[in-house]
Amino acid sequence: MSFKFEVKASLSNRLGRTGVITTPHGQIKTPAFIPVGTKATLKSVLPESITEFGAQAVLANAYHLYLQPGPEIVDQAGGLGKFMNWGKPTFTDSGGFQVLSLGVGFKKVIAMDENTFQDDDVIADDKERLAHVDDDGVTFKSHQIGADIIFAFDECTTLHNTRSYQERALERTRLWAKRCLAEHDRLTKSRADKPYQALFGVLQGAQYEDLRRKAAKDLSTMVVDGISFDGFGIGGALDKQSLGDILRWVNEELPQDKPRHFLGIGEPDDLFVGVENGADTFDCVAPSRQARTSSVFTKDGRVNISNAPHKNEFFPIEKDCTCYTCTNYTRAYLCHLFRSKEMVAATLATIHNQHFIVGLVDQMRKGIEDGTFLDFKAQFMARYYKK
Ligand SMILES: [Zn+2]
Repeated sequence: MSFKFEVKASLSNRLGRTGVITTPHGQIKTPAFIPVGTKATLKSVLPESITEFGAQAVLANAYHLYLQPGPEIVDQAGGLGKFMNWGKPTFTDSGGFQVLSLGVGFKKVIAMDENTFQDDDVIADDKERLAHVDDDGVTFKSHQIGADIIFAFDECTTLHNTRSYQERALERTRLWAKRCLAEHDRLTKSRADKPYQALFGVLQGAQYEDLRRKAAKDLSTMVVDGISFDGFGIGGALDKQSLGDILRWVNEELPQDKPRHFLGIGEPDDLFVGVENGADTFDCVAPSRQARTSSVFTKDGRVNISNAPHKNEFFPIEKDCTCYTCTNYTRAYLCHLFRSKEMVAATLATIHNQHFIVGLVDQMRKGIEDGTFLDFKAQFMARYYKK
């Protein structure tokens, strides 16, 4: 097995730490922001740019790749990294969130009840049944996609579900986790010629402290056929105010020596709270999505670069930014590209936004290493949010 995690330095009196995740495709220094390449591509940018703006890994989505091109194709290509010409570590999200979001998107009520799950419900040709993908359909097929880190299938609930529903959903996620571990063991042995894939259990429990702590205890002590989870994903329903508390509850229960991925977090203030409370890696579509709508990050907050005031600003988005975009292009040019609806506008804005967020979490890591994290946080937050 070539997966391991080592804690290097800790934030005093807090759960935050730095570490190194080792995968068959290289190391990830943590904390780290992992850009999302949902369909095996980071929208609008070349793999060379992903390396250049400093990303250490990319997260794709098993569910989307399962639908198109299909896991067999990715497997035949030599795995996700090879397929997309990305030589560094890869993650795939399980699809629990997509089952939720696409189910809602297709205006289908997601019962997610055990009675509705049958083996022949895995995937259907007509789109109306997309919400019925179960763990056979997503997590087990994830092995064929060949990412270094994969997530067990979970039920992603919302804050609108009742407490009793959250309890039942948590129990279903726990039972799925057990099945995933058993199947993971079997598939790992049957694919011994392929690089080892680390399996992370996903903790749900919404806003409830007892459920979150229970999920962390259940999954961190779970052993099936002698194997346990390699790390943990923290996901599901949470609001901004409770984000730090939820992370603290689960990270107080989780073992120190396994990595923790916080799913779907990418706003600067949330990343600070995440790092401070012991999350090691993060992913989010927001930096790219915002870039495509001409919203770019600056140390003074986000700016809509297509607005009139930027028309004649003949200087970079940020004067001291070292990204490819800021090194070569002006705000005025970006403003023009967005107004002209030119495709390269999205490319240049995405490069800058990813460089900003990846770099921000890198600075947090350095801050923990040299003891300046809290000063850096205070200074960044005061300027970015004008508080
Ligand atoms: Zn830049």
